[in-house]
Amino acid sequence: KKPAAPKVDAPPVEPPKVVANVALARPVRTEFSYTIPVELEGAVTLGVRVRVPFGRRTEVGVVVAVGPPSDKDLAAAHKLRAIERCLDTEPVVDAPLLDLTRWMATQYGCAWGEALGAILPAPLKRERQTKRIWMARATEAATPEALAELEEKSPEQHRLLRTLLGIEGEIGLRDLTNKLGLSESPARTLAKKGLVELRSAAFEPFEVGEQGRERSTPPELFEAQAWAVDAISHCVETRKHRSFLLEGVTGSGKTEVYLRVIERALAAGRSAIVLVPEISLTPQTVGWFRSRFNDVAVLHSRMTDAQRLSAWRRARHGEARVIVGARSAVFAPVVDLGVIVIDEEHEPSFKQASTPRYHARDVALERARREGAVCVLGSATPALETWHAARTGVHAHLSLPERVGGRPMPRVEIVDMRTEPTGEFGALFSRNLRQHLEGALQRGEQGILFLNRRGYAPVLWCPGCRTTVRCAQCDVPMTWHRDIDRLVCHLCQNETAVPRNCPTCSAPGGRMIGAGSERVERTLRKLFPSARVARMDSDTMHRREDYERTLSAFGSGELDFLVGTQMIAKGLDFPRVTVVGIVSADTSLHLPDFRSAERTFQLISQVAGRAGRADLAGHIVVQTENPEHPAVRFAARHDFTSFAEAELVSRRELGYPPFGRILRAVFEDEDGSKAASVADSACQALHAALDGTDAVVLGPAPAPMSLVRGRYRHHLLVKTPVGSARFATARELLLELAESTARPRIGVDVDPMGM
Ligand code: ADP
Ligand code: ZN
Repeated sequence: KKPAAPKVDAPPVEPPKVVANVALARPVRTEFSYTIPVELEGAVTLGVRVRVPFGRRTEVGVVVAVGPPSDKDLAAAHKLRAIERCLDTEPVVDAPLLDLTRWMATQYGCAWGEALGAILPAPLKRERQTKRIWMARATEAATPEALAELEEKSPEQHRLLRTLLGIEGEIGLRDLTNKLGLSESPARTLAKKGLVELRSAAFEPFEVGEQGRERSTPPELFEAQAWAVDAISHCVETRKHRSFLLEGVTGSGKTEVYLRVIERALAAGRSAIVLVPEISLTPQTVGWFRSRFNDVAVLHSRMTDAQRLSAWRRARHGEARVIVGARSAVFAPVVDLGVIVIDEEHEPSFKQASTPRYHARDVALERARREGAVCVLGSATPALETWHAARTGVHAHLSLPERVGGRPMPRVEIVDMRTEPTGEFGALFSRNLRQHLEGALQRGEQGILFLNRRGYAPVLWCPGCRTTVRCAQCDVPMTWHRDIDRLVCHLCQNETAVPRNCPTCSAPGGRMIGAGSERVERTLRKLFPSARVARMDSDTMHRREDYERTLSAFGSGELDFLVGTQMIAKGLDFPRVTVVGIVSADTSLHLPDFRSAERTFQLISQVAGRAGRADLAGHIVVQTENPEHPAVRFAARHDFTSFAEAELVSRRELGYPPFGRILRAVFEDEDGSKAASVADSACQALHAALDGTDAVVLGPAPAPMSLVRGRYRHHLLVKTPVGSARFATARELLLELAESTARPRIGVDVDPMGM
C-alpha cells in the first residue's frame, strides 16, 4: 500500500469582486452565480444571454444581475465557475421586461429563468439560431393495404399514416405529432419503410395574414365609438397609465375602436400590441390591421422559429410598431409601448396551461402599468373578474351598446329537450331547429350547428353489465369515431378497435350513447340530403389551410351548413348565416368548475353572435335540458348585466374570484396511493399553517381527470379572500414542497382557469 499523499492546501482563491447572476430555465426558483472572465468584462451586462457550464453540460441563460458577490458566493468562492461565452452584443431583454419577468416569477411561482423562457423566441434559447422543420406527406406506396397491415402491428404508425392519408399535400410534422400525442419516431420508421416522405423546410408554407395589404378607408365613427377612442387615446397621448373595459356585443364596432386608438398611438410615436385568441388569428383578422397600418408584425404559435425570431427582431428594432398575436405576444419587445389591446379578454386560452402558468390579461395590465401604457380589454361577455374591476373603478368602463347599423340582436329560442319527442332525429334536432334549417335551405341562406364535443358517440355502453368501455390508461369513456370506426380516448388519443362484445361481461349488443360533432354531421346529411355540409373540428381540420379553405368555401356560398366544435364559435362573420343551432348547451354546464355558468353564458352569446350579422334576421336555437338555468335564460335575452350581477352574488357567497383567490396543486403519479398520500400530507401542512385564518383548504380529492396516461391525479385547493397575506403563505408552502419532491410530480397553479 502506498502511503497517502501529503495533504496540500488548496491554493488560496482570490474572491471575485464581481459576479453575474444568471437565470436558467430550470424548475428551481434560484439564480446561479458565475464569475466573469477578463475578456468578457464589459460584455456581460443586464439582459444579455450567456453560455455557462452547468454540471457536465452547458446551458444558455440570461444575465439578471451583475454586482459584488453575496456571502453565499464568497463562502463557496472556489466552486464558482466562469461564464463561457457572451451571446449578445446588446441585451435581448430590456430592463422593463426583465422586471416584468421577475414579477411573473413571484406571481406565478416559477423560476425567473422559466419566466424569461416564456418571453424569448425559441431560437434565442439555444445557441444555434435557426432550426429547420420537417414536413411530412404520405407516399404512393401508402396504399389502403399497407395501412391495414399496420393496424395490429403498430397502432401508432397506423394512426399517423391514417391521418396523413386524410391530408392533401404536406403538413408540419411537429404540429401533427403534438396533436396525435406521438413522438417523432413512428414517422421516422414510416419514412424508412417508404410510406411517408419527410422533407426538411426552412418555413412552413402557410403564413397568416399576408392578405389585406390594400388600404381601406376608415368609416366615420359613431358617437359611442368616438367617445371611447378619445378617452383611450387621450391617455396614450399624455402617457398616462389607465386600463379600460370596452364592453360591446359582437358587431358593435370594437375592432374599429382598436384601430383608431392604434392610429393615434402611432401618431404619438408609440407602439401597440393586440392580443386575440389563437383561433381568431385568421388572415381576416390580421387583414384588418394590415389594411390600415404599414408596420404590422404577427406572432403566433404556428409560426416557425425563424419567422417568430424575425417578427420579434422587427419589434425590437422599432420596425414593427403594431404587433398582432396570440397570448405570448404580450411580451413583444416593442419600442415605447403605448397600448395593449386584448380582444375577447374573457377567453380562457389567455391563460397558459404549462409553466409559467401566466394569464396574458394580468401580465398585460402589469406591463402597461410599469411602462406607462394603456390597456384595453374588449369583450361582449367580460370575465367576471374584469367586469367587477370595471364596476369598482379599477378599469374605466366604456360600452358600445348597439350593433353597427342598428341591427337587432337575433332572437334566441330555448328548446327544452326533455319535452321533445324522441325519434330518429329528435334527440339531436328539435322540431324547431329542423324547421329553421329547412327554411334557410329553401331561401338559400346558411346555418351553423355547434356542439362542443367531437366524435360520433361519447359512450359505448353495455346494457348487460351496465358499464362503459373506458380507456386503459385514463379514467374516461372512449369515444366512438365512426369515420374511422375506432374507439378513441380524448385524453391520451389512444385508439382501439370497437369490441364486438363487452370487454367486461362479454355480452353482445353494446349501445352507442350520446352525440358528438360527427353524429350531428351525419344526421344533418340524412335530414337534408340535398344540403352541402362541412364539419370543422380537430378531426377534420389538420392544418390552418384546411380551416381557411373551409371557411372561405362557406363564405362564398359553396356550403349550406357548417357543423363544428368551439373552432367555429369565434370571430367568424358571414352575412348569409340566419340559423345557428347550439345542439346542446349542457356540455359546459356540467363542468366541475365554478366558472361553468360563466362559460355557458359566454358560449351561447358567442355562438349567437354568428347569426344575422347583415340585413337578414337570424334565429338562434339553444337546445338544453336546463332551460331554467340563469346562464341559459340571461344569454337568451342578451342580458349580460343581469347574469353578471346574479353570478357575482353567488361568487361572493362562496368566496370565489373576483372576491377570493384560488391556489390549486395537482399531485400526479403512476402510483395512485403515493399521489394521494403526499396530497394528504400537503393538506395537513396547509391546515397546520392556515387553520384559524381567513384561508380555506379544500381537499385533497381525486382531480376531475383522475387518471391520465396511466398517472393518477389528486388535487387540493386553497381559497383566500383577495388581498389576504395567507395566499402567499400557502403558495410558498406548496412551491417549496413541489421543489423538494421528485415523486409525485406536483404542479402548482396560481389563479387557475379550469379544474
Ligand atoms: P366587433 O369588433 O365589436 O365585433 P367590428 O368593429 O368588427 O365589431 O364592427 C362590425 C362591422 O361594422 C364591421 O364590418 C365594421 O367594418 C363595421 N363598422 C364598425 N364601425 C363602423 C362605423 N363607425 N361605421 C360603419 N361601419 C362600421
Ligand atoms: Zn386515455
